[in-house]
Amino acid sequence: MLMEELNLQIYGCKKCRLWKDTKHAVPGEGPLNAKVMFVGQNPGADEDELGRPFVGRAGKYLTKTLAEYGIKREDVFITNIVKHVSPQNRKPFDDEVRACLPYLIAQINVIKPKLIVLLGASAKDTPRIDGIEYIQVIHPSAAMRFTKMSEKFRQQIAEVVKEIAAIKT
Ligand code: SF4
Repeated sequence: MLMEELNLQIYGCKKCRLWKDTKHAVPGEGPLNAKVMFVGQNPGADEDELGRPFVGRAGKYLTKTLAEYGIKREDVFITNIVKHVSPQNRKPFDDEVRACLPYLIAQINVIKPKLIVLLGASAKDTPRIDGIEYIQVIHPSAAMRFTKMSEKFRQQIAEVVKEIAAIKT
């Protein structure tokens, strides 16, 4: 399936309750030949407003930290497991994750990344696919609030850089 078709399906999706009262679906963005995907759990209010992933405070922190380590945001594909914001930004329910997960799997099948970086809680629900490396890192929203978490997050991003270098060789 083409990514455009997939995006259209996501924009019109009503497979779970979350589409109600949202402004935009947030399918994700990035190059279709990206070697690296970043996957979060679900979009927040800023993402709902703009229809783009990781554009709020946590997203800006992520983008800035990646840049400090030489990773350009525009070189990676960034998305979430669940494509619509939740009411009051609650954690998505299991049935909502199950309903939305096929979109992430379809995106992975289109992009065929070598590495998937799992941001925070997404690690629990993202299926592990043979032939893809996975790295779990602290969610940037936690990393930006606590110094200890921030230090750990930076170490983890340094590991991501090493993995990316290994992919290229
Ligand atoms: S969260 Fe996912 S499954 Fe639920 S309506 Fe949105 S796109 Fe569809």
